[in-house]
Amino acid sequence: MSRNKSVKDYIRTIVDFPHEGIMFRDVTTLFADPRGFRMAIDQMLHPYAGERIDKVVGLEARGFILGGAIAHQLSVGFVPIRKKGKLPGTTISQDYKLEYGEAIVEIHDDAIQPGEKILVVDDLLATGGTAAAGIKLIERLGGEIVSCSFIIDLPELGGRKALEDMGMDVHVLCE
Ligand code: AMP
Repeated sequence: MSRNKSVKDYIRTIVDFPHEGIMFRDVTTLFADPRGFRMAIDQMLHPYAGERIDKVVGLEARGFILGGAIAHQLSVGFVPIRKKGKLPGTTISQDYKLEYGEAIVEIHDDAIQPGEKILVVDDLLATGGTAAAGIKLIERLGGEIVSCSFIIDLPELGGRKALEDMGMDVHVLCE
């Protein structure tokens, strides 16, 4: 056991998952470690100390694990953005491009009130397509996004720049 590990040290890489050529950054090893998980949540929260945040929005699925813990720490509500067809109430939808084809994400239409300050969280930022779709949903409901927080950024895929070009503040723990 080391007391000097960083968040990055707890993340496992699985080569060729879910298909050939993908280096899958697996955060389950980070989540499973008591020091690792706590460190990640503390570091994700740190930049927002003293700031008003009314709700945390998590992107399916690993954003739910992070978002739940962060919302609990902030004593605010948590809102899920899910893949199409998973949310039971009335939703609004947003489509976005994948490497091959398209996907759709949804949010309950009463989950955010106009003017609420929102923190968006997910495990990993790649092209930024998923997060950008989530941002559009939040903004369509009148939410004001304080920041978008991720454990990992893959800089060569340009997601951070894409979100910053949308006017977003982006915080990541490692690249
Ligand atoms: P993107 O929309 O391209 O930014 O992709 C981000 C979403 O896909 C996140 O929800 C990630 O969990 C997942 N993802 C994309 N690439 C990877 C990767 N190399 N390792 C792990 N998860 C990934």
